[in-house]
Amino acid sequence: MASVEEEALRIIQCTPGGVLQSELWKILKIDSRKCSRVVKKLLDMGLIERVEHRSDGIKTFILRGKKKTVDACLLLAEQELVPCIACDRECIVEECNLIVDWMYQLAIEEAKK
Ligand code: SF4
Repeated sequence: MASVEEEALRIIQCTPGGVLQSELWKILKIDSRKCSRVVKKLLDMGLIERVEHRSDGIKTFILRGKKKTVDACLLLAEQELVPCIACDRECIVEECNLIVDWMYQLAIEEAKK
């Protein structure tokens, strides 16, 4: 994916409620025609959705990132769920023994394959 599409996707996914297409091209500092091509590509790839929207009587679109389903296998190591899901610790990843132990289990599981 070209960098302008990656940047557009990042902006769309990181904006709660979505981004107006009529604003996206200004944020990306590209012209509206190029923005339309970028949006079409992201739509064709199934990464975003587009909903018609009227602002001051002018038709535009709200662009929202599509939610991906999570592969449950990516959360498991030796049938043990990644500890972050139910964690209420103050997170300092570099010092977390729970995640290190879990990753160790994951590495063992990968080595068995
Ligand atoms: S890395 Fe450790 S401290 Fe951080 S959320 Fe995961 S389990 Fe909790």
